[in-house]
Amino acid sequence: MSGAAPLDVVADFPAIPVGWAYLDTAATSQKPQPVIDAIARGYAETYATVHRGVYQRSADMTLAYEAARRKVATFIGGNPDEIVFVRGATEGINLVAASWAAQQLRPGDRILLSQLEHHSNIVPWQVAAERTGAAIDVVPLTPDGRIDLEAMAAMLTPQHKLVALAHVSNVLGSVLDARAATELAHGVGAKILIDGCQAVPRLPVDVAAIGCDFYVFSGHKLYGPTGIGVLWGRAELLEAMPPYQTGGSMIDRVSFAQTTYAPAPTRFEAGTPHIVGALGLAAAIDYVETIGLDRIHEHETALVRQARAALGRINSVRLFGPDDAAGIVSFAVEGVHPHDVGTILDEGQVAIRAGHHCAQPLMDVLDVPATARASFGVYNGPGDIERLVAGIERVSRIFG
Ligand code: PMP
Repeated sequence: MSGAAPLDVVADFPAIPVGWAYLDTAATSQKPQPVIDAIARGYAETYATVHRGVYQRSADMTLAYEAARRKVATFIGGNPDEIVFVRGATEGINLVAASWAAQQLRPGDRILLSQLEHHSNIVPWQVAAERTGAAIDVVPLTPDGRIDLEAMAAMLTPQHKLVALAHVSNVLGSVLDARAATELAHGVGAKILIDGCQAVPRLPVDVAAIGCDFYVFSGHKLYGPTGIGVLWGRAELLEAMPPYQTGGSMIDRVSFAQTTYAPAPTRFEAGTPHIVGALGLAAAIDYVETIGLDRIHEHETALVRQARAALGRINSVRLFGPDDAAGIVSFAVEGVHPHDVGTILDEGQVAIRAGHHCAQPLMDVLDVPATARASFGVYNGPGDIERLVAGIERVSRIFG
């Protein structure tokens, strides 16, 4: 099989045994040793709280935690005071929905989403819409599974105050032209939030070049730990936003008469944060930067092309999404439920995801109850695709 040269980094990932094809990176990525080491060191050697301690260990940990914030900022082209550490993309979107949207939206205002959004970029907006009296519109997809920007341009009105779109679809792998989408949104005066969960691990992201207003992603899909993620927000927007959660760490001064809040991003980080998670995320950023996001993108798009070409030769396979998808391929095997596909593949040590992928509205558009999804990471190579294809041929024989 020709195409992508493997990046040859699988040995960095102790939880990937030889002979196991892990093709579920879109759900969560495996962790390289430097990330595991950074987390272990954080707990075993340098652990202390941040921002409060008067002792040296805590001061050092605070420096490390804030250095992680600066690293994230540089990684995505933002400023450190625009980086809010959250639990993950889900919390980042909920934060904007509960804070910015609750403050800004009025009855009659409109929110624009797309048909391919993850539930975490749908449900928070439904709740915000219910609370504020705003309405939601949904941009359709092109036949090959991209958010249709022409349709979006035709739909946008001055009533639209917010657009929220996935940079890369977690089901189809289709890549949004985030800059073009941002220009369209700004053209009617709307703000735009980009859900970068599947983009940040798969292609270089620069929020300044995109020009968007909010950008969210999760650490655990970027080879980092669970429980830590990022909301990037334009400084002037964050500064004007009311708190999301309240309590310790996010205040300026508390009294029973009146409480004032800290500036952003501290205002949005109530409670003791996931200190070591931030260190793990910083190590993950170092790791992917050592390989290079351009190389990772090239590698994963080549794997997608190989997988699509090989799966496309099997008569019973129906492929979803575009040929130039970023690292993700969804498909169906005629007459076989995706869960059965996943189970048979697992017998051959090939791990894929089968289900609705938290994108039930997209399943309705594709007119399927679920899809089988193979998604790639830095550790995958052509051998994994050969195993996938052999597994699907076996599925076809069994159900043929
Ligand atoms: N958006 C997209 C596109 C995703 O793929 C995911 C995770 N599957 C999320 C949002 C939610 O991420 P998390 O569960 O890490 O908060």
